[in-house]
Amino acid sequence: MFASSEAIVLDLAHLKSIDFHQEGESSLVTVGAGVVFRELVEAVKGRQAALPVGTGPDVGVVGYIVNGGLSGYFSRRLGLLGQRVVRLTMVTAEGDIRVLTPEDDLFIAMLGAGSALGTVVDVTILMAPESILQSAEERVVAFETREQAVAFARGALRIQRESVLSNGSVSMELVVSGKKALVVTLVFYDAFQGSTAEFTKPLDDLAASLNLSITLKSHWSTWYETATALWPVIAEEKGSPLGMLQHCMGTKGPPTDAVLDFICDTVVAEAPLDQAQFSIVEIRTLGGAVLSQSELPTGNCHHQFFVDLITLYDAKAKTVSERQEIATLTQRVMEKARHVDGLSVDFSGTHSQPDDVDASVSASVIFGTQAMADTVRRLKTMVDPANRFRFHPFAKLFG
Ligand SMILES: Cc1cc2nc3c(=O)[nH]c(=O)nc-3n(C[C@H](O)[C@H](O)[C@H](O)COP(=O)(O)OP(=O)(O)OC[C@H]3O[C@@H](n4cnc5c(N)ncnc54)[C@H](O)[C@@H]3O)c2cc1C
Repeated sequence: MFASSEAIVLDLAHLKSIDFHQEGESSLVTVGAGVVFRELVEAVKGRQAALPVGTGPDVGVVGYIVNGGLSGYFSRRLGLLGQRVVRLTMVTAEGDIRVLTPEDDLFIAMLGAGSALGTVVDVTILMAPESILQSAEERVVAFETREQAVAFARGALRIQRESVLSNGSVSMELVVSGKKALVVTLVFYDAFQGSTAEFTKPLDDLAASLNLSITLKSHWSTWYETATALWPVIAEEKGSPLGMLQHCMGTKGPPTDAVLDFICDTVVAEAPLDQAQFSIVEIRTLGGAVLSQSELPTGNCHHQFFVDLITLYDAKAKTVSERQEIATLTQRVMEKARHVDGLSVDFSGTHSQPDDVDASVSASVIFGTQAMADTVRRLKTMVDPANRFRFHPFAKLFG
């Protein structure tokens, strides 16, 4: 729990306020730092609104925003949640309370590097109407062998590149899970024209051609159904404690054949899905609205193709050497990723592992550009010269 005997832990869990208000044409919600996604999504549902929320119901909304979090389902249409923030309240290392708006130097930096710069008390976010979502389709495909998972991923990722990445009105996520399931989700936004059934058919055909059975077909027609779809699955991932390693990789443009081959033949084939059965490889489309809105200090702003490897297991059920093996297998995959041409590695504060031994994220990669990294460094020196905020995903960058 404590990284240092001198550490002070600020528990913000009781800052539970969720206040809806209107400013001119804008429907806003101000969210306290203790609010988790489950609470925000349930509250937004009653307002016929939508937000680019993350998948985990118990993830802190502010913790996600200050580390540049992305939504695999909604960011292509709505941007990152941080890009929708219009105001925030923070406390500096000196104890000053500041209300920041886009005019303030520190505002943008807080929306991706914020956990290194101060303590956020609340954020005010611009909501979108729920009509941004037309519908969503999910297919759950069962697999027995890793070769089958690789073969399905190979076909599905071609479909993702050819049909989805070129079409800003759709997003697609493929999840390969240690529970021997391949989950494909297509989200159709308001601008989508054509038949969703026809768009989905190549994925159904792919499963049939590989003799893999589709065990579940789901259709959702609301933002709320889509936003909450994975909550029951995540609820089953329990541990005492839950061991977790988070990494990501991706490309700025459409992935090359070589990158897709690497994702299938190495990431899907070699990730420790059997040893750590809650683990998942999530392959997502980003870009879209993320690219057209204000640039935040996160590599998520610059990538169209996003893959995360979340290694997850109940640590109580593993011996020390089994845990070591899981970490080694994960690191081996990530080490190979660092040598693939055109593939960025660990460019997100929400999907990188600051305490990996001998591996460190690079400031220009994690904050998106060298200029943004320089800005974050300059602001860190100004607002937290003694580095009081030092336990966060960017710790090694400010050592
Ligand atoms: C089940 C699950 C699903 C997830 N899905 C997604 C997803 O879809 N997209 C995505 O991008 N990420 C996702 N994540 C990753 C998640 O966004 C990050 O782990 C996030 O940083 C967690 O924030 P937290 O506040 O819950 O955790 P914490 O561990 O409490 O916080 C994480 C870091 O942020 C800092 N921090 C938290 N609150 C504040 C604050 N108020 N002010 C300043 N600093 C603060 C903390 O000090 C810490 O360094 C998921 C994680 C899980 C477990």
